Amino acid sequence: MKTQTGAPAPFVDLPPEAFRALGRETIDLITAFFADIRDGAPFPAQQPADVYALFDLPVPEVGEDPHAILADWTAKIIPNSSVLGHPKWFGFVNGSGSQIGALADALASTLNANLGGWKASPAATEIERRTIAWLGELIGYGANTGGIFLSGGTMANVAALRTALSNKATWDIAAHGLQGSGGVRRLTVYMADHESHVSFQSAVDLLGLGRGALRKVPSKPDFTIDVGALEQMLDDDIANGMTPFCIVGHGGSINVGALDDFDALADIAARRNLWFHVDGACGALGAMLPELAPRFVGMDRADSVSFDAHKWLGVPYEAAILLVRDPELLRQAFATQATYLQSSLPSEYAGLNYFDYGPQLSRGWRALKVWMSLRLYGAEGYRAMFRTTIACAKHLHALVVASDDFEVVQPEPELYIYSFRYVPAALKGNDAKLDELNQRVADELIKRQIAFTMTTRIRGRVTQRLSICSHRTTLQDIDETVAAMRMVGAELIAG
Ligand SMILES: *Cc1c(COP(=O)(O)O)cnc(C)c1O
Repeated sequence: MKTQTGAPAPFVDLPPEAFRALGRETIDLITAFFADIRDGAPFPAQQPADVYALFDLPVPEVGEDPHAILADWTAKIIPNSSVLGHPKWFGFVNGSGSQIGALADALASTLNANLGGWKASPAATEIERRTIAWLGELIGYGANTGGIFLSGGTMANVAALRTALSNKATWDIAAHGLQGSGGVRRLTVYMADHESHVSFQSAVDLLGLGRGALRKVPSKPDFTIDVGALEQMLDDDIANGMTPFCIVGHGGSINVGALDDFDALADIAARRNLWFHVDGACGALGAMLPELAPRFVGMDRADSVSFDAHKWLGVPYEAAILLVRDPELLRQAFATQATYLQSSLPSEYAGLNYFDYGPQLSRGWRALKVWMSLRLYGAEGYRAMFRTTIACAKHLHALVVASDDFEVVQPEPELYIYSFRYVPAALKGNDAKLDELNQRVADELIKRQIAFTMTTRIRGRVTQRLSICSHRTTLQDIDETVAAMRMVGAELIAG
């Protein structure tokens, strides 16, 4: 902020009136963003090099006028940004960004609580603890479980595997790591082959297990893990000297939203004394719907369940939750000792220290935006929104079934992720050309700023893949997107 003489201000707080004016200016920008979200483009037209050049500026040696800084939001940032909350944003698995979540982030930053230790965040810690209990209860995992907020589903899977390792390895992992007492052993983790999420590659990388530790179990035609094949693979691997320690079930898989048979996986894990983790990053919250709850039977017996609040729950990044049946096991996996963290003498101010339950020491206040969103919409508000997104995915499936230029590649979706293939008559049977065409159709929708769609591969072939995760998406958005694919596809073939 420039002073009246034009000299840059030192690092001091603004007087309340000046701060309020700046705040009002900011809230006007936020309000305009939400009001215009449907009319804007989901993806910017600029090329990566243009966006790079725009921000290739020298270090600001002298402070700038705050109004000029805010002006860049409208002039430079928004026109060069992807709008993940756009009703026709169907990429990756991105939440739509709740309004109250954005405000909650401002409030969380205002208090600037550090959710590592209780002493640095008394109320904030209890809000995190309560939010975790609410979510556990809502998905039928029980309110008495423990857990922790993490940055995303990837880190939640890392933390889950770390906890599994420390609990199931037959030696003291904290003391000896993977070296074990008697030399190297091959610790292995199991999940379905087709739909296993790439985050487990990161997890085994970070934990030093090596990618070979990921054992991919054949999946069934519906893309869920084949539990018979799992049993066979476990027997074979043990006979070959491996030490299985964890089974992963997917609660909503990444391409088709498949739900593994959690009950069967829980049985196998219990019988063989393995850790059972459910990666529910995109779909575990489906258990909140009574009509879907039967599909989640057995998830309540998992040792850990993870899901992303920045996906279906629609809060702004970053927020994922790892739930564990027994919080003590989480503590054993992560607790460290330092006199400067604990205070060296017993104190009456000993509350829950989240730094003992996860990999982070200093932690931001991720739970506030979830706590506020849950209170604003209520569980019922969320259920209604979930049903709308699922209805959009089922509608898309119905359109594909009824058409003769789109091909079904998966069962009717139970969640909000759906893959299908564009197969116009002219190219039927020519798989290589169809792969290329499907990619070009998706690229073209982005380029023309019609919708943001992506492709994936289903059983080796390129397909369209839509993640319909936004409370702003309507059936009409789905109709328009399919119509646009058809129009663009026809042009490309003619072209
Ligand atoms: C999104 C996703 C992840 C990774 O979550 P991030 O928040 O992106 O780290 C893991 N597993 C599944 C099934 C997912 O959909």
